[in-house]
Amino acid sequence: MKRLQFLQQIGLVTAGSFVLPGLLFRKSSNFTPLRNNVGLFSMQGGTIGWFVSDDAFVTIDSQFPDPAEAFINGIDEFGGGPEKILINTHHHGDHTGGNQVFHNNGYRIIAHENVPVLQQRAAQANDTEANQAYAETTFPDSHELSISGETITAAYYGPAHTNGDSVIWFKEANIAHMGDLIFNRLYPFIDRNGGALITGWIDLLETVYSESDPETLFIFGHGNPEFGVTGSREDLLVMRNFLSHLLEYTQRGIEAGKSRDEITDISQFDEFPGFMSPSAFLSLPRNIDVAWRELTNTD
Ligand SMILES: [Zn+2]
Repeated sequence: MKRLQFLQQIGLVTAGSFVLPGLLFRKSSNFTPLRNNVGLFSMQGGTIGWFVSDDAFVTIDSQFPDPAEAFINGIDEFGGGPEKILINTHHHGDHTGGNQVFHNNGYRIIAHENVPVLQQRAAQANDTEANQAYAETTFPDSHELSISGETITAAYYGPAHTNGDSVIWFKEANIAHMGDLIFNRLYPFIDRNGGALITGWIDLLETVYSESDPETLFIFGHGNPEFGVTGSREDLLVMRNFLSHLLEYTQRGIEAGKSRDEITDISQFDEFPGFMSPSAFLSLPRNIDVAWRELTNTD
């Protein structure tokens, strides 16, 4: 069970139903209400956030086409009104792969101005342009939506996980969706080709920490199942501390004259025992390699 839940959470299998010998398990729901009509949904890919009111449905990220269909078919039971809005936290396929389904269901898509550019570039590289739907409303710094009883703000803080990440704040609910700015106790993906910057990511987490309070509830794009995809601002500091340690460790190796191979020959930081690596793609050697490139200004 644990392994399967884990694979679901990090997006490696589709949840909902799965067969073990002789048994069929079905999750009762992929929807988790949090507070003030804000909740999360997850089947496959980066965690979806949602808000419903009498005048709108607001959704944060779209996972993939199948989860997007399941989400749209199920969200009605929580309410929602005529206006339909999808905000993308960033361009990665596990957060925008269901955009077309939302678009075809009347959702207007909003994102930071770099998101459609990065999304299209990735789609061209992967030959998946036919499957994309792009944000039609973009913003350079922040975008605010006032919807009955809630103020929702998408805010860009500079390059971090990519160069198009937004934090989505639900002011009244005191909830923030972090997109992939938090991989909760997972070695993260740091998308240097997509404009990522580890030093910027550290600054961002400190800024968001200072803008939140002890009651703020955070939604994370991905999480180690032991720690989940929600948490408090203390979890932001864990991620900040990890990224700082990553840069310090790599810098020390460079200064000691070690080769790139020698520096990346490590699977775990003893200082961060709770972090896990689900695959080579999300692993400490990959993270160190990106840190090495950032510190040495190498592509
Ligand atoms: Zn991502």
